[in-house]
Formats: sequence, C-alpha cells, structure tokens
Amino acid sequence: MSLYQTVKSAITVRQVGEMYGMEPDRHGMVCCPFHSDSDPSMKLNDTYYYCFGCGANGDAIDLSAKLFDLNPQQAAEKLASDFGLDPDKPPANAIALPPPKRGLTGEQWADIAYCLRVLTDYLDLLHDWQKRYKPASPEEPLDERFVEALHMTETIEHLTDCVAFGTPQQKAAAAAQLLSGSYLLMLEERTDRLALAKCA
Ligand SMILES: [Zn+2]
Repeated sequence: MSLYQTVKSAITVRQVGEMYGMEPDRHGMVCCPFHSDSDPSMKLNDTYYYCFGCGANGDAIDLSAKLFDLNPQQAAEKLASDFGLDPDKPPANAIALPPPKRGLTGEQWADIAYCLRVLTDYLDLLHDWQKRYKPASPEEPLDERFVEALHMTETIEHLTDCVAFGTPQQKAAAAAQLLSGSYLLMLEERTDRLALAKCA
C-alpha cells in the first residue's frame, strides 16, 4: 500500500478538517479557508471536500496540501505523522471507504462532471443574486432574481450534494436521473444566456 493509499484509507476529509481546526456542523459544512467565507459553504465529506462558494475541491491529501502549502508527498507525510500512521503498515482499523472510480465508465464520470458544472454555475449566479439584488429596505419591491435565488438555492444545493457526494454509484445514479429530464439542459441554457448578458 502506498503512503497515499494508507493515508486516504485511514483518514476522512472531515477528520483532516477537524484536526486542523475546522468545526463542521452536523451537515459537515465549514467556513471555507480558501476564500473569504462568513457563511459555511464548504462541505467536508468522507472522501472529498467541495466549496460551493469558490469551487475548491479535492481529497484529504489535497486539503492538507492546500492548507499548509505543501506538495502532495509532503502533505501525505504530514497527515501520516499528525494522525500517527505508520506508512509501512496499513492501519488495522482502516475505515471502509468506497474505492475510487470502481465500476463507473468514463461516460458516467463525464456525466457527473457535466452535472456538477451546470449546477455549480447556476449556484454561483444564485449566490451572487442573493447578495446583489437584496432589497435595501422592506418597502422596496423584490427583484425577481432575488426571489429566484431565495426559491432555488436550497434545491440546487441539494442536487449538487447528490451528485458531488456519496459512493461513485450514488453519484452516477444522481447524474443519470438529472440527465433523464430536460431540467439540466434548461438550466445550462439559462445560465449561459445570463452569463452572456452579464458580459454584454
Ligand atoms: Zn471556498
């Protein structure tokens, strides 16, 4: 077993976050250390972290590397040392994590990536609108973009969670379900149009 495998099979991303001072809430959400984040927008999962604010993502070793500005080898060594792992001896209590990528086709991974891109693009817009078009006073009429952000943010965050987290099989199933309807295409068209409008 390589050092990477030992570290990744022994430590969850969430444990890494906790070790280095993050305090995940019961949904695993923390304030993102990689952008100015006052409202927790980074999710720590077992094998993966993902920031809904700035898009930062990766595994346990990536998180340690980015936090301490290390290369992957150094980051894995730091984790092994901080968690008391012996790189030559796989831990007896290694948690059973789903092996990455097993059983999915390249097409399924591409579908997952596509869904995530469309969902997070739209989510970026919603987060932006929620700040940008917030009414200044209670008397002010609500901007329709602000209303859309209020209505949609939670749903889109949930959908993104479904595709971003879980076993590869769960992610593939979530992506397939999203792609079976026209919802995602509609979102993509809409987001592209809005992005164009913003540039114009
Ligand atoms: Zn972030």
